[in-house]
Amino acid sequence: PFEFQGKHVTVAGLGVSGVPAAKVLHGLGARVTVVNDGADERARAQAAELEALGITVRLGDGDTLPDGTELIVTAPGWKPTKPLFTAAGQAGVPVWGDVELAWRLRRPDSAPWLAVTGTNGKTTTVQMLASILKAAGLRTAAVGNIGVSLLDAVTGDEEYDVLAVELSSYQLHWAPSLRAHSAAVLNLAPDHLDWHGSMEAYAADKGRIYEGNRVACVYNVADKATEDLVREADVEEGCRAIGFTLGSPAPSQLGVVDGILVDRAFVENRHKNAQELAEVSDVNPPAPHNIANALAAAALARAFGVPAAAVRDGLRAFTPDAHRIAHVADVDGVAYVDDSKATNTHATEASLAAYESIVWIAGGLAKGATFDELVAGAAKRLRGAVLIGADRALIREALARHAPEVPVVDLDRTDTGAMLQAVQEARRLARPGDTVLLAPACASMDMFTNYNQRGDAFARAVRELGA
Ligand code: ADP
Repeated sequence: PFEFQGKHVTVAGLGVSGVPAAKVLHGLGARVTVVNDGADERARAQAAELEALGITVRLGDGDTLPDGTELIVTAPGWKPTKPLFTAAGQAGVPVWGDVELAWRLRRPDSAPWLAVTGTNGKTTTVQMLASILKAAGLRTAAVGNIGVSLLDAVTGDEEYDVLAVELSSYQLHWAPSLRAHSAAVLNLAPDHLDWHGSMEAYAADKGRIYEGNRVACVYNVADKATEDLVREADVEEGCRAIGFTLGSPAPSQLGVVDGILVDRAFVENRHKNAQELAEVSDVNPPAPHNIANALAAAALARAFGVPAAAVRDGLRAFTPDAHRIAHVADVDGVAYVDDSKATNTHATEASLAAYESIVWIAGGLAKGATFDELVAGAAKRLRGAVLIGADRALIREALARHAPEVPVVDLDRTDTGAMLQAVQEARRLARPGDTVLLAPACASMDMFTNYNQRGDAFARAVRELGA
């Protein structure tokens, strides 16, 4: 175990990870200094709270390494190229992220981790996994971006048998000694490349989740990059590569046969070569990408020894979080679906693949994305499109290139009433049986505070139509 007593630890960044990390380290007897780039009102309030405990805080100076630093614990979002880390590298000071800290602080007999990463579907899969583990009678929690924080889960009083852990590529970058019981990479598409520097570096950081796995490395059969990461990982002896597929599964895979989720990797009855887990209709919503999420969750749960019946019960008990392919209402035979969380093209592609005839509401901040592939792939299923937000011209141009016959309404307004008009325009374009789908493929911050607010505005507008 690492000895924190008297150690000079620098915490990089206040906020959701830095404040609790500073408190825990201070409680362990470390001499803690927090450095933070900004000095806004929120930062000053957090600084005051920590200073009252005797922790030193330097606001507006996130790039200078405090003298005597023996360890840095950084917020996951801080870029590896920051001068602070260059200085740390030169001084031979190790850098840990919030996940590394939690991993190091866990008790020796503490709950094993079932870990999930991927470009899209992490939160959903971790929640499905926790639901399955609970259905098996295990004490567990979904930890990571939402719900319980990892640090709380490993240092708090609550006892767990196993943890379902969501990990971002940033967190994995800063977690060199993490060793999960089993882990899954759901998919890999370009995202956050400005942070990681390249697709290779991004993939390598995601791949760290497999390092040292004891029981299973779960990969996506349809996404060869995930399988390559398993092959490159250094795992414990006996650890198995387990694939998931929407098709019929090969041995050592989970898949789908005639509408049934089937396991050919962890078979309970030795006379059988496959175990039936659940029906596709047990998955909410039963869209292809979400069935993939369910299979990944099932694979991790099964690697932990959970029986087939608990997979079915856990999937049935699961309800998705708001704004993730949430059915809002049917109006005049048209379904209105809120997938405001589809903030990149990869997520939107999955969402558009889930419906036959779509009036698509899209647009916002493109974050450097291109839309040709997305639009070309979905063109046949588009009844029409309504475009909103700052970068809508990029989508309009892609539509003109790949779906010239699809009617497009281009809304040149960003005020609060824009979403209502977008929904009204969508209603005009839709025919009974169609789906009006908010799947923006863009971030929301040009018009809204976040994707939640954007989804809420959509749902409100739909309810006004119905009224
Ligand atoms: P994350 O935690 O990785 O951001 P979420 O579970 O919150 O993922 O889902 C984010 C969005 O990604 C959803 O709105 C959905 O449209 C899409 N999505 C979910 N699962 C997948 C998947 N397996 N493949 C592609 N897109 C997905």
